[in-house]
Amino acid sequence: MTRPIDPIRAVLTRTVETAARADGTERQGLTGCPWHDVKSMLRDVGLRPTRQRMALGWILFGKGDRHITAEMLYEEASKAKVPVSLATVYNTLHQLTDVGLLRQVAVDGSKTYFDTNVSQHHHFFIEGENDLLDIPQTDVVVGKMPVPPEGYEIERIDVVVRLRKRGR
Ligand SMILES: [Zn+2]
Repeated sequence: MTRPIDPIRAVLTRTVETAARADGTERQGLTGCPWHDVKSMLRDVGLRPTRQRMALGWILFGKGDRHITAEMLYEEASKAKVPVSLATVYNTLHQLTDVGLLRQVAVDGSKTYFDTNVSQHHHFFIEGENDLLDIPQTDVVVGKMPVPPEGYEIERIDVVVRLRKRGR
């Protein structure tokens, strides 16, 4: 006996699959036409491929793994003649983060980077150059875990190792 496909369930299932992929194994790189890839990427997580999401997604995901702030993306969008406001850029970045297509990396109070590589890994932050570099997860060993407060569990540990040029 076959059950009719429930469209909401279908979207949820796809979202779960995307989340699972985000959890470790590599995400399939964009292949073929980036425009088409971004569209199916958005559809797969249940986001409507609006013109602005498509344009920002194309800028974000069309260049391989990268770390980008809202201001950087806004600047690139402006250069590419994509008419978006900084507020829209912020909203889109947070929506993409909520559905697991981006990972947020908070470096300090004022600087938040969005990472197109959503697999578990850590970061070097180069002070003064405002640059993030990936550290493979296996290169950082956390010796002792703190005990979380009652009723909480540790979701993940993000390590930011701050670097400065020698001799300064
Ligand atoms: Zn990264």
